Amino acid sequence: MTPSPERSPLMPLDEALRLLGEGARAAAITDTETLSTFDALGRVLAAEVCSGLDVPPQDNTAMDGYAVRVADVQAEGTVLPVSQRIPAGTVGQPLQPGTAARIFTGAQIPAGADAVVMQERCEAVAGGAGDLGSVRVNLLPTPGLSIRRRGEDVRSGAVVLERGQRLSPQALGLAASVGAATVQVLRRPRVALFSTGDELVMPDEVPPERMPPGAIYNSNRFTLRGLLQSAGCEVTDLGIVADRLDATRQALRTAAEGHDLILTCGGVSVGDEDHVKPAVQAEGRLALWQLAIKPGKPLAFGAVNRAGGGEALFVGLPGNPVSAFITFMVAVRPVLQALQGLPATLPRAMQARAGFDWLRPDKRREFLRVRFDEASGALVLFSNQGSGVLTSTVWADGLVDNPPGQAIAKGDTVAFLPMQALVGT
Ligand code: AMP
Ligand code: MG
Repeated sequence: MTPSPERSPLMPLDEALRLLGEGARAAAITDTETLSTFDALGRVLAAEVCSGLDVPPQDNTAMDGYAVRVADVQAEGTVLPVSQRIPAGTVGQPLQPGTAARIFTGAQIPAGADAVVMQERCEAVAGGAGDLGSVRVNLLPTPGLSIRRRGEDVRSGAVVLERGQRLSPQALGLAASVGAATVQVLRRPRVALFSTGDELVMPDEVPPERMPPGAIYNSNRFTLRGLLQSAGCEVTDLGIVADRLDATRQALRTAAEGHDLILTCGGVSVGDEDHVKPAVQAEGRLALWQLAIKPGKPLAFGAVNRAGGGEALFVGLPGNPVSAFITFMVAVRPVLQALQGLPATLPRAMQARAGFDWLRPDKRREFLRVRFDEASGALVLFSNQGSGVLTSTVWADGLVDNPPGQAIAKGDTVAFLPMQALVGT
C-alpha cells in the first residue's frame, strides 16, 4: 500500500519551487511570434534585441546655446560673430574658425566645433558679419562641454534587451530607440481555470438576499482569473465544475486540449470529499504536497494527458480564498515564469522595518498581510491573519515572508514582498 499523501511531511517551499520549476521547464513554451514593438507590452522576448545604429547617432548638443571651437575662446567675455543657426533635426555647415553657431538641444554638432556653451552663459550682442549678430561667451569652455557623444548610450550591434526579458514600457522605448519595429516574443501561456465545490454560486446568478443556506460566492474565480490575466496569460474560464467524478474528468480532458496549464481551486485539502484528486490521477498523474507555508498548505501538482499525445500541466490550489491567493503568488506564478523560460522564484524581497510584534510564529514559513505606514516608516499588520479573510488581501500592500519559527519584535528588519511585484508580470 502506498502511504496516504495526507500523511506526507510538510514540504519546504524552496523544495516545491525546485520541483515546480523542473516540471514547468520540461513543458516550456517554445512557440514564438513576431509582434509590432508597439503591441508587445508585457511579453517575454524570444530573441535578443540588437541596436542597428549608434545612439545617439551623431555627436549632438545637450543644451540650447552656442557651438564653438575651444581654441577661439581664450578668455571669458570673448565676442564671436554668429555664423549659422542649427535647430534640432537640421545639419549645419562646418564651423568657420573664429565664429559661433547658434544651436538647439539635440542638434548635431557642426564639424570643427568641440564645445557648446549653454545660452544662460552667453549674451547676444549686435554686430558681426551677417544678420545673426554676435555672441559674448561668458565662460571658458573645455573640449566636449555639453556634447552628447555618438554611441555614448548604445553602440551599433550591441544587445540592448536580452532573450527572456519581459518587455516593460521602458524596454519598449529602448527597443524603439534602436530602430526595432518588431520584436520576437513567446506566445502567451494558455491557462484553463475552473473551480470545484457545490457550495459555490456566482454573484450575477444569486443576489445576496436569495443566498441559499450553505452557499458562498465563488470569489476565487475572480481572483484567480485576474491574477492569471495580470500575469499575461490567455485564460479559458471553465466556470464551476460539479462535484462529480465524471464531470471533473470531462472538464480536465477539455482543459488539457490547447492549454499549457490547468488551474483549479478547491478539493485538495486534507479529507476533502471531492473528485479533483482521483480525476487527475485517472486522466494523468498527480503529486499532492503539504507545503510548509501559512496560509495555503495543500497543493496538487501534476499533468493531464491530451487525447492526441502530450499533456497539460496541472496545479490544484486550496479553496480558502486567502490560501488560494497566496499559493498562487508563491507557487503558480513561478510555474508561469518557468513555462516562459524564466526562473521559478519569488520576487526579490525588500528589507523593511516591522512596526508590530509577532510573538507566536508558526513552524511553517508565514506570509503575513502587511501595509507600509508612511508616518512611522514601518510595516503594520492586518489584525486578522485568518486564511478566509479576503479583506486582508485588499488592505495589504505586501507580504512579510517570515521564516519558520521566527518571532518578530517591533523594530526588527523583515523581508517584505511588495504586492506590485507579486501581482502582475
Ligand atoms: P476546499 O479547499 O474545497 O476544502 O475549500 C476550503 C474552503 O474554501 C471552504 O470553506 C470552501 O467553501 C472555500 N472555497 C472553496 N472554493 C472556493 C471558491 N472558489 N471561492 C471562495 N471560496 C471557496
Ligand atoms: Mg471543496
